Amino acid sequence: MKTEMNTVKVRKTEELEAEQLGAHIGEIVRLHGSIYKIRKMSSFAFVLLRTKRQMVQCVYEPAYARFALEELKEEACVRFTAEVIREERSRSGYDLHLLDVEILSEPEEVPPVVINQKRVNTSIENLLDYRPITLRNEKERAVFQIQARICQAFREFLDGQHFTEIHTPKLVAAGAEGGAELFKVQYFDRPAYLAQSPQLYKQILMSTGLDRVYEIGPAFRAEQSNTNRHVTEFISFDGEMSWIQSQNDVMAMIEEIVDHVLRGLKERGAKQLEVLGKEINVPARPYPILTYSECLKMVNDAGLKLNEGDDLGTEGEKIVGDVMGQKGIDLYFIAEYPEEAKPFYIMEKDGTPYSYSFDLDYRGQEVSSGGQREHRYDVLVKRMEKKGLDPEDFEFYLEAFRYGMPPHGGWGIGIERFLVKMLDLPNIREAILFPRDPSRLEP
Ligand code: ATP
Repeated sequence: MKTEMNTVKVRKTEELEAEQLGAHIGEIVRLHGSIYKIRKMSSFAFVLLRTKRQMVQCVYEPAYARFALEELKEEACVRFTAEVIREERSRSGYDLHLLDVEILSEPEEVPPVVINQKRVNTSIENLLDYRPITLRNEKERAVFQIQARICQAFREFLDGQHFTEIHTPKLVAAGAEGGAELFKVQYFDRPAYLAQSPQLYKQILMSTGLDRVYEIGPAFRAEQSNTNRHVTEFISFDGEMSWIQSQNDVMAMIEEIVDHVLRGLKERGAKQLEVLGKEINVPARPYPILTYSECLKMVNDAGLKLNEGDDLGTEGEKIVGDVMGQKGIDLYFIAEYPEEAKPFYIMEKDGTPYSYSFDLDYRGQEVSSGGQREHRYDVLVKRMEKKGLDPEDFEFYLEAFRYGMPPHGGWGIGIERFLVKMLDLPNIREAILFPRDPSRLEP
């Protein structure tokens, strides 16, 4: 087993990525990472090293290594020198035999939660309180690697559809989604708010020639709801497109985006999905479009008494989700909500109490809402007044409409809610690196 140092090619200066190791059989290599787990066997030990992209199993043999196993501690950051030796019995086809170690940093104490098992077996509170530690677990991390791939797929798809990525201010003078949910902050000598959504800004752009835009950015809601689907800061994937014929154009676009994301993830998220033990179902298209009135009937038939105009709410959405689930349908739109329940910028469905609005629901939960916007200046001002808003407070917004605005519509998808439903996670907080809710402001 022991190879004479002077008979092998030495690559001491080269830091290798784990996946490149197979090409270096017979060589001495260096690689760095954190010691994830030390598994002692009778005459040797396995040392699992967490490297940038994957877990690498190293073999420690006292007769071979030039250091004592006791020098290694779990979670220490190290640089190993090791020999890559062919080993047919190993899954990778080689073993990494440790020669030397350079210890870059050592843990001060044993971590407060056990992280080097298949999953971190602890309460959601611990999971979040100890995020810097619990994320060292592959399963915890995989969720965020998938999240990154979702955003990548959003971008890739919309760039191909001639959308422009934008960034709108998060410190704003007026809210868009309802006053009660605004976080007020002191902006020098006057009040300001944290943006609830990029709604007003993305709409303003519709008249500028930037007529298809999207943004992936934070949205803030001062909601005192301690539910498993609400947080006070989430990432909203917003899009807005002009020259639409109707809200159907917007729904068709979302459907294409979601389909692209789900299909793409099956491939490029395969490794993380395997780690999580999850499979993604890609629903057949087109996604069904239900109306609010149809859903209200479904909910009432199931015994939850709701009146015309009531929000379907968590329970109602769940009932609709169950009915659709029985038909094997995961994703569906709920369209034409009562205009009264929708913000001022949504277009009313002429002569009816409904509106050109929709939600996209994913297995019984709203993950996106959108619709056609009111683009006619005079009608928009009337709608604002009807909602008890003072048009003067929205002058910066109305200006864009006063000088001509094309018909347009858009959507907002909460990416964490989407991820939760896709991966069937129990709580939205598990899909957020550092969640914020009424009782959580750290870490
Ligand atoms: P809900 O009624 O479920 O609270 P909403 O109607 O207030 O949602 P919208 O204002 O339409 O939500 O926001 C669009 C999307 O943003 C939602 O479909 C959801 O995915 C996400 N979202 C909204 N509020 C929150 C929140 N507090 N936490 C996490 N995601 C949210």
